[in-house]
Amino acid sequence: MNRHEQERLYTRLQEIVSDAKQMVFFGGAGVSTESGIPDFRSVDGLYSQKYHNIMPEEIISHSYFVKHPTEFYEFYRDKMICLDAKPNAAHKKLAEWEKRGILKAVVTQNIDGLHQMAGSQNVYELHGSIHRNYCQKCGKFFDVRYILESSGVPECDCGGIIKPDVVLYEEGLDNQIIEKAVDAISKADVLIIGGTSLNVYPAAGFIRYFHGKHLVIINRDATPADSMAELCIHAKIGEVFSILD
Ligand code: ZN
Repeated sequence: MNRHEQERLYTRLQEIVSDAKQMVFFGGAGVSTESGIPDFRSVDGLYSQKYHNIMPEEIISHSYFVKHPTEFYEFYRDKMICLDAKPNAAHKKLAEWEKRGILKAVVTQNIDGLHQMAGSQNVYELHGSIHRNYCQKCGKFFDVRYILESSGVPECDCGGIIKPDVVLYEEGLDNQIIEKAVDAISKADVLIIGGTSLNVYPAAGFIRYFHGKHLVIINRDATPADSMAELCIHAKIGEVFSILD
């Protein structure tokens, strides 16, 4: 992308944002990688690294959690909880747009809570959050510090095993969250999709609920939905958002 073409795309994106009243942002792992959180699904991310000779997608599956909770939590504390990460320009801009009243919702596949840390209120976390953990027996909630500071398999006072409120492999997504996300997307005038290759369910399927004016895709690499978008920018999401107003 040459400089002139880049300026044209950024100017058009700013026009779309300035005109928006009901924006929705749909974000994937790319939004978090710029805050230093590894992408579990990318080739150079954690999925290419084995852990005790087990693939990460096997460890973070429901059956592995049930059968080997000690090993699950060893991996989970070591690789999935990144409390040092800070919101980047994309998180901050989205929170600012929500306060300004032009952004209605953030739909995210990330579990790190960085949107809330940046100040976003209306966040639909499709894959849950590391910040919520609950007792499987009595339902009591525990924060991420509790998990991090416990050892072995964290247990509740009642003796129940605590489970992260994160959607593991083999588990379905929360239908209520899907419904809310779809509702927000179906009412949006602008949908910005960022930091996702759109290969992972249900991201790709969400686009068909969008009937608004402007579909924008911002991702480092090309996505299968690029041809559907009015505007497509192949760049890092944080870099793009840092120059928007
Ligand atoms: Zn309990």
